[in-house]
Amino acid sequence: MRESIARRWEEHYTAVSEENPLEGVKALLAYNSVVDKVRAIDGQLLKLLRKPEVVPPIYAKTAEDLDDLSEGLCYSISNGLALEVICSPDVIRFLDEAGGYEERLGGQVATVARLLSDFSAASVFVHPDRFSWKLASLYQGSRAEVPLGIGGKVEYVKAEEFYWDCSPEAHYILEYPAGLSFGDGPAPRANRFIAAPMTKVLFHKEWEESLSKVSKECDAFFIAGLNHMGEEYEESFRKVREHIRTAKASNPSLIIHLEITSVPDLRKREAILDDILPLVDSVGVNEAELADMAFLLGLPRWEQVRGNAVYQLEAMHLIRALGVRRVNMHTLGYYLALSPNPVEEVRKSLLFAAIVGAVRASLGRSPRPEDLSEARDVPLAERGLKEMERLSELLKLKDVDHRTFLREGWCEEESMVAVPTRVVDNPKYTVGLGDTISGASLFSEKWGKGPSPR
Ligand code: ADP
Repeated sequence: MRESIARRWEEHYTAVSEENPLEGVKALLAYNSVVDKVRAIDGQLLKLLRKPEVVPPIYAKTAEDLDDLSEGLCYSISNGLALEVICSPDVIRFLDEAGGYEERLGGQVATVARLLSDFSAASVFVHPDRFSWKLASLYQGSRAEVPLGIGGKVEYVKAEEFYWDCSPEAHYILEYPAGLSFGDGPAPRANRFIAAPMTKVLFHKEWEESLSKVSKECDAFFIAGLNHMGEEYEESFRKVREHIRTAKASNPSLIIHLEITSVPDLRKREAILDDILPLVDSVGVNEAELADMAFLLGLPRWEQVRGNAVYQLEAMHLIRALGVRRVNMHTLGYYLALSPNPVEEVRKSLLFAAIVGAVRASLGRSPRPEDLSEARDVPLAERGLKEMERLSELLKLKDVDHRTFLREGWCEEESMVAVPTRVVDNPKYTVGLGDTISGASLFSEKWGKGPSPR
């Protein structure tokens, strides 16, 4: 049975049209772009740190000193878990001086801007968060522009040429291979540790002044980076709400999308749920972030939501109940969406995102349209098919057409679509992969009538 279903999914992937669904889209992206400084963790770096005697049961979410850093690294490596830890200026200085980094364009906004540029979007407007010369130069060759409201008019400056006087921000991405040891035993899988500085997103005044005019020209407003708004985030969140209201007032059919990222601070997570989510039309999330959100919404089964599609669906319904019309979750092996749009369109966009994601994982960089054929030989994830079987059992209990769901990936009664994805065995570089997937599916999904004004 599973074999025939897998064959059916191969057909769906083969049938994805050659057309570029991102061509001509008009995007407004805020808030965060950063310089990602990437290097492998090796013996030389570890020698500079004191190895913890035992793997700590928890780690400091904010690393104040090198011991906190060592514990975080030990926790990440020994468990093979991706971690992002905010670090004090001293820790950042230490990492910077260790050297040996390759610099890449990072942050959700920059990642999606690069993808849309390479796929011929008509407009890619970005918020210029802490644009140093270095950061701007990494935008080279993209279509991204910074809109600036000056004297009642909007001026557009190429992102690669935009610079303002602010302290720049870099994230230190420390990658390790499976088998590396720093603590208890060898890392069970390759993964990464991200050290982020304490600096927060800086709102740009002239960008804000352009918002009302630029929103009129766009299809969707992609918002991310709420986890980088500091300890005293209330004023920043107030601004985000103001931006959403301004954009929506100026263009009621603009789709407001929030990309949720890991938010370790519980108060901040609550504020996002209470004050921001009810204002957005669409949400993108991975399984861990979904579990975090669901926990606060009264579904305390954190482990189950991380690993089981049935619980994930329940969690997504809880988010939808807040008034969010589209919820899109990606995890290793499958994507799951609840959407008001026609199921066939939703499936198309998920398949496209899965192809883009697989190509990015195998090439280790943002793909271009001519790269997409690379995905053909990447195998379908068994896990995805298995989790879809679990969902299909649920549909059977509800007495809805579960067979169509397994073969076609949709259940119209539930406005639900799922696809098994192609998973690359030895991915080259996975940082930003989730944002690429969310951006690809959001901007390629065709919205029926467009969201009604809130
Ligand atoms: P990030 O925060 O770096 O964007 P996420 O955890 O949000 O990472 O998303 C990573 C996503 O990338 C996963 O949900 C999965 O769908 C996809 N992915 C991860 N590894 C692979 C791989 N080897 N092949 C294909 N897709 C992958």
